[in-house]
Amino acid sequence: MEIKGLKSWGGQWKRPLIMAGPCSAETSEQLRETSLAIHDLGINIIRAGVWKPRTRPNNFEGIGVNALKWIRDIKDEIDVQFAVEVANPHHVEESLYHGVDILWIGARSTVNPFTVQEIANALKGVDVPVFIKNPINPELSLWIGAIERFHQAGVSKIGAIHRGFSSIQKTRFRNTPQWTIPIELKKTFTEIPLICDPSHIAGDSRMILEISQKATDLDYDGLMIETHRDPASAWSDAKQQITPEKLGQLLESVTFRNPTSKNKEFLSHLEELRDEIDQVDQDLYEMIATRMSIVDKIGFYKRDNNVTVFQKNRWKEISESRESWAKQLGLDVDFMDEIFKRIHENSIRRQREIMNKSFQKAKDAS
Ligand code: PEP
Ligand code: MN
Repeated sequence: MEIKGLKSWGGQWKRPLIMAGPCSAETSEQLRETSLAIHDLGINIIRAGVWKPRTRPNNFEGIGVNALKWIRDIKDEIDVQFAVEVANPHHVEESLYHGVDILWIGARSTVNPFTVQEIANALKGVDVPVFIKNPINPELSLWIGAIERFHQAGVSKIGAIHRGFSSIQKTRFRNTPQWTIPIELKKTFTEIPLICDPSHIAGDSRMILEISQKATDLDYDGLMIETHRDPASAWSDAKQQITPEKLGQLLESVTFRNPTSKNKEFLSHLEELRDEIDQVDQDLYEMIATRMSIVDKIGFYKRDNNVTVFQKNRWKEISESRESWAKQLGLDVDFMDEIFKRIHENSIRRQREIMNKSFQKAKDAS
C-alpha cells in the first residue's frame, strides 16, 4: 500500500538513527547527567518519558511539565534534540511550548483510534516528527491506521517504532517481537524510518544487544534504547535500562550493515528471510507446545472417565483430515504424514504417562 504524498524523510538523519535516554525523567540531575553522558557518545537524540502510562494507579506517573523545563535547560547547555511521549492534546501543547523536538506515540495510545485521532488533530499545522510505536496487541492494521491518521492530519515526518507485542503465551521477552509484523509494515511503508526499541521488547538489559543486532540485520533504520545513569535505582523499568557506558559498548558491538552495498544488500535480505524462518519455526514450536498442553488435558479427561488413550475411529478421522489439508496447501502428503505421525506418537506417549502416573499413585496410596 502506498500513502500518496508520504515522503521519505529518514535520510535527514544519519543512519543508524539512535535515540537513547531514561524511561522517565526523574530529577533534573538524573536527566542532565544521563543526557550529557549520552551526548558524549556522539548521540544527539535523547528520549525521556515525562508522562508515564502505568498499568496500575498509584505508581510513579511521570514528573509532567517540570521535566519539560529541565529538558529546555539541557538543550540550552548541549546540542541535542529531545523525544517525548505524548498521549493527549495537552501533552502535545506543553511539549511543543517547551521546545521538544520529536514526539512519540506510546503502544497504549496506538491501540486506541480515538486517542490517535485526538493527538493527530492537535498536531494539525505543526511540523514536528512523530514516531508511532506499534500497538500493544499484534494487529498490523492498527499500526497502519495510526500512521494514516497522522498523515491525514498533515504530519509529514512520520516514523515507526517496534517495541514488541503482548501475548498470552509466556515467552522470554517482556513483549514478543513478532518480527513478521514490523517487516510487513516496512514493506507497506518503504518511505518511513523504522526503528527498534529493544528495551521494551526485552524487559531485561541482558537481551538488548541480541535484539538490537537482529533489528539491525533486518535493515531497521535505528534503535531507541532506554539508558539511565543508575539503572538499579530507576523509578520505572529498572530491569531493562543500561548505563550510558554500556550503551557505548553495545553500539560498538552491534554490526551496522550498509544496505547500499550490493553484496550486503543480498546479505541483509538473506537475514530478513532467515529471521522470518526463525519466527515461523518459533511459532511452529509454540503451536506444538500448545497442542501438547491440550493433549495433556485430554489425557486427564480420559483417565477420569476411564476411556482408552487410543481410539481407532478418531485416528482414522485425523489421518483423513490431515491428508486433505496437506493436499489443499500443496504440501508433500507423505512428508506431512511422517511429521504428523511423530507428533501423534508423542501425544499418545504423553497421555500414557498421565494414565501410568495416576495408576502408580493409586497403587502407592493403597
Ligand atoms: C516508553 O517508551 O517509555 C514506553 C512507555 O513504551 P511503550 O509505549 O512501548 O510501552
Ligand atoms: Mn520504559
